[in-house]
Amino acid sequence: MTQGRSANLGPGRILGVLGHPVRHSASPAMHNAAFVAQGMYAMYGAFDVPPEQLAQAVAGIRTLGLLGVNVTIPHKEAVMAYLDEVAPTARQVGAVNTIVNRGGRLIGYNTDGWGFLISLEERGVRVAGRHVVLLGAGGAARAVALHLAMAGAAKITIINRTRARAEFLLADLARAHQPVVAAVADVGSQEAREALSEAGLVVNCTPVGMAPDVDHTPLDDVSLLPPGAVVYDTIYRPLETRLLREARERGLLTINGLSMLVHQGACSWEYWFGRRGPVEVMRAAALAALEAAS
Ligand code: NAP
Repeated sequence: MTQGRSANLGPGRILGVLGHPVRHSASPAMHNAAFVAQGMYAMYGAFDVPPEQLAQAVAGIRTLGLLGVNVTIPHKEAVMAYLDEVAPTARQVGAVNTIVNRGGRLIGYNTDGWGFLISLEERGVRVAGRHVVLLGAGGAARAVALHLAMAGAAKITIINRTRARAEFLLADLARAHQPVVAAVADVGSQEAREALSEAGLVVNCTPVGMAPDVDHTPLDDVSLLPPGAVVYDTIYRPLETRLLREARERGLLTINGLSMLVHQGACSWEYWFGRRGPVEVMRAAALAALEAAS
């Protein structure tokens, strides 16, 4: 495991990611590079935790005095039951991706939606007033949808394989701190085609198109999209999915999931260290780790 500086690594200097599997996570490379760049005494590891051992792993954060952790698939929802406190936004999203250990008290946050919004901002994409079509209604989609509502999206249309899950998110959006006009459309329906034809932003929050299934796409016909649409894929393996390639070939602005990954990590630093992580160092390290793994 690489680390910032090797001397005096003690309690309160160790962080990591809890997931299963977690071997291919880019987070250790990303955070450790940031510690090195900032001359910090800290190290970040990858902890492979099977679901049946999640409770013990969380207890271990307290026992071993870890400063905090990130949480990834499949533990983001289940972990909430073992925390002392869950921040309101994470509670609304229904998932935690960042835990801070404050003197043995474990507090859960979610930085996925925040990272998503910053990644749009950095590409000059304004959310306010846009009609957004969201593909998927799982954990990532929930974080993205609630933050799109906070950022003033004009409308969100949720297209998901399982309609009931989309309707569950729709109901939560109606109850959100900043409610937004929202609708559900079935995959391939006339409503879905109409929403896509007037979309200002399409966000894929399904794993469709992720390696190794790179020939798949969550959107069969990108020609439905209007010329000004932005196409965002939260997937970062591969960096250009079939969806993004087809959108680029149509001349649309495309954004992959790497920036969201980097910014959610940089935002986790706000909770652990009281300041944002160094984004460009983290981006370069994450990119190198992804390229090395491919
Ligand atoms: P999740 O909670 O399991 O939700 C998965 C969603 O995708 C559900 O809506 C599911 O539909 C849909 N789906 C799954 N397989 C499908 C298929 N074969 N065809 C159509 N729809 C399918 O997962 P998640 O945590 O939201 O993650 C989703 C994606 O977001 C992943 O690709 C992940 O890499 C990405 N992500 C990226 C970042 C980042 O930082 N870039 C952060 C978080 C997540 P049903 O409801 O019908 O099951």
